[in-house]
Amino acid sequence: MSFKNILGQEGAIKKLKALIHSGRVPPALLFSGIEGVGKFTTAKEFAKALNCTHIIPEEPKAEEELFGSCPESIPEPSTLDHLPSDDACDFCVSCSQTAKGVHPDVRIIDSEFQGLLMDEDSQKQKTLRIDTVREFTRHVYQKAVLSAWKIFIINDAHTLNTNAQNAMLKILEEPPPSTIFILIAAKKNLLLPTIISRSYAIEFRGLSPADLEELLVRSGTTPDEASAMSEVSGGSMKKARDIKKVRDRLASITADGPQKIFKLVSSLPREPYMAREEAKIMLDMLLVSVRKVWLAQPHGKPAAEHAALIRKLLQYRRFLNQNVSHGLVLEAALLESAKLSVSFLGTRA
Ligand SMILES: [Zn+2]
Repeated sequence: MSFKNILGQEGAIKKLKALIHSGRVPPALLFSGIEGVGKFTTAKEFAKALNCTHIIPEEPKAEEELFGSCPESIPEPSTLDHLPSDDACDFCVSCSQTAKGVHPDVRIIDSEFQGLLMDEDSQKQKTLRIDTVREFTRHVYQKAVLSAWKIFIINDAHTLNTNAQNAMLKILEEPPPSTIFILIAAKKNLLLPTIISRSYAIEFRGLSPADLEELLVRSGTTPDEASAMSEVSGGSMKKARDIKKVRDRLASITADGPQKIFKLVSSLPREPYMAREEAKIMLDMLLVSVRKVWLAQPHGKPAAEHAALIRKLLQYRRFLNQNVSHGLVLEAALLESAKLSVSFLGTRA
């Protein structure tokens, strides 16, 4: 993995490569854009590229005797000289440690880090708290162990609560030398304006359907399924994965008619937030299906009926952002759609 394997973010990568070339990297960078477009992957690749030594470690002699010469996939040392200096080589110790998440100078701050730190369930960390910022601050003022740059990747930085953001701001006001903070935020508007103004902005755009399709196929989805999913995913690989999970579950529900609708609604996750998100995915899938049917119809009564259904589904979709029972909303949407025999991406509703 290196920059060249990241799809659809040419603009962001061009800016990052320019920073590497200049040798003057701002102490704080803000990667913003919707979820699932490659912000975190790009942050890790940027960290790798910055600290890459382009030196292949020597294989231990004993291993050479046991397993023969180096595997073909590892280039000869001379070829590394020709690799671009603004991208990671993927072979040196620094690249390898960063990829595995064990580089002593590249730290990832996220809900998992906080969960381990607080001895709490990582899944239940809704916000990043001040104690977490204080914990990694201890490392901010220590010298780098292995590489030129110390890099802190703060994933879902928009979940830092106000106290944590204020603590973060204090560090950004007097950043230690050779230290970079990469703040990753899907909801930039939740960050303090003072944090935004101190950060170098790198915007990530939504992925095109073609890029999403390719990424899905790379991850093992069949081309047909990838094509159908990319239309509903709104440019987000995360949403595409969520849709796949829902589709797989829908496919396992075998009932018909109203019984199926009842089963679909009762199969929503127990955790209210997750159930609401899943109900939204199902409504989005329904909307795409109805739009397809509507666009294929000539003007007339059926087209008008489908247009009315689209309006209703959009209204139900809005209800899901309000304090309305997601189960009831989904049930109503499915019943309305069933009247016009609308299906979920090929699965009968
Ligand atoms: Zn490297």
